[in-house]
Amino acid sequence: MRRLIFESEHEQFRDSVIRFMQNEVGPHADRWREAGIVDREIYRKAGAQGLLCTWADEKYGGAGIDDFRFEQIIIEENMRHGDIGFYINLHSNLVAPYIAKLGNEEQKSRLMPGIISGEAILAVAMTEPSTGSDLAGIKTSAQDRGDHWLLNGAKTYISNGILGDVIVVAARTDPKSRHGLGLFLVERGMEGFERGRKLAKMGLKAQDTAELFFSDVKVPKANVLGEPTQGFAYLARFLAQERLVGAIGFMATAQTAFDLTLDYVKQRKAFGKPIGAFQNSRFVMAQMRAELDALQTYVDQLVLLHNAGQLTAEDASSAKLLCSELEGRVMDACVQLHGGAGYMEEYRISRMYTDARISRIFAGTSEIMKEIIGRSLGLDERKLS
Ligand SMILES: Cc1cc2nc3c(=O)[nH]c(=O)nc-3n(C[C@H](O)[C@H](O)[C@H](O)COP(=O)(O)OP(=O)(O)OC[C@H]3O[C@@H](n4cnc5c(N)ncnc54)[C@H](O)[C@@H]3O)c2cc1C
Repeated sequence: MRRLIFESEHEQFRDSVIRFMQNEVGPHADRWREAGIVDREIYRKAGAQGLLCTWADEKYGGAGIDDFRFEQIIIEENMRHGDIGFYINLHSNLVAPYIAKLGNEEQKSRLMPGIISGEAILAVAMTEPSTGSDLAGIKTSAQDRGDHWLLNGAKTYISNGILGDVIVVAARTDPKSRHGLGLFLVERGMEGFERGRKLAKMGLKAQDTAELFFSDVKVPKANVLGEPTQGFAYLARFLAQERLVGAIGFMATAQTAFDLTLDYVKQRKAFGKPIGAFQNSRFVMAQMRAELDALQTYVDQLVLLHNAGQLTAEDASSAKLLCSELEGRVMDACVQLHGGAGYMEEYRISRMYTDARISRIFAGTSEIMKEIIGRSLGLDERKLS
């Protein structure tokens, strides 16, 4: 389906992103998956190419592009031609905005140039061994000690957990309030900050998902983002963009799986004819085509709404829910159409299947997305009962 939201300048940009992903990311993907981590260098290369934080202010080295379609293109082409474990989207669109939008001038001028050039890699740490969906259950604590905050606790499942140089850490600043959280910038090398295991996962093999530990880490006052008790509200605000970013990526991987399966069913033969000639294959492919086009149109519309500053939390949750669920169904059907080959790691579809399983879980599970959408309809347990 032709997508009308892009102009010629976007298409030119897309061509350059495809070249970057094909030349600098794709060729290393097997090695990175083997190693369980990408090369740090890839962030610097992406920075040199102007692909990190395209939206960031020019005074810090950004391009100042106020059009999320450019970020959408980078996410889509990383999924198609790069590698899903290269978390350029986490760096540019999930974590950097916390610093660019909540940070004060000193923090921005100190950190943003390195973030935009790829010298400093970012991560965000909310999840803990005992709490994930329920952010109000965060136990990591930050105590005000006059000239610094004393940070203690543990985080887990943190993306870029090993490579991360600057980590936005959510910690409890007010033990009496469920929502009394602050956001702290923990930097590589701070005393008492340690990384635990790089966790073995069923998919996303090139992603360094890790545990983090904080033991009496003295976080300078200069490293607090915004108000130290407003972290919960900040997380809620930024999670809308995070979920749109997720939806963009899930659609790109689903579209890619569809395309490679279409090629496969045209070539692979059974009972003397291509398997694509069987009515079942044709119907399965047709159903996917129709669903992908419909949902892609929705996501594109949300990107335009986001550009207009009108993306709501429930819009983003709907997109995250529907796109991750569709991605899961598409991956399953595409593996089935590949037959035994679909189960073999040497076939890309097999890896895509396991990579995609996380989409319904992270950045808020499908169940939590339904809670957010339901509450926006006034169907709130606390208010109705
Ligand atoms: C590969 C990977 C990368 C990740 N990266 C990061 C990261 O960079 N930073 C970070 O902070 N976190 C990260 N996470 C954590 C991720 O966001 C959480 O795993 C996710 O939010 C779910 O939390 P949980 O694992 O504690 O599950 P739980 O909250 O224990 O949920 C378990 C099940 O219960 C259901 N459930 C929970 N509450 C409700 C409810 N109210 N109603 C109905 N059902 C409910 C859930 O939907 C789920 O099915 C990552 C996780 C993975 C696996």
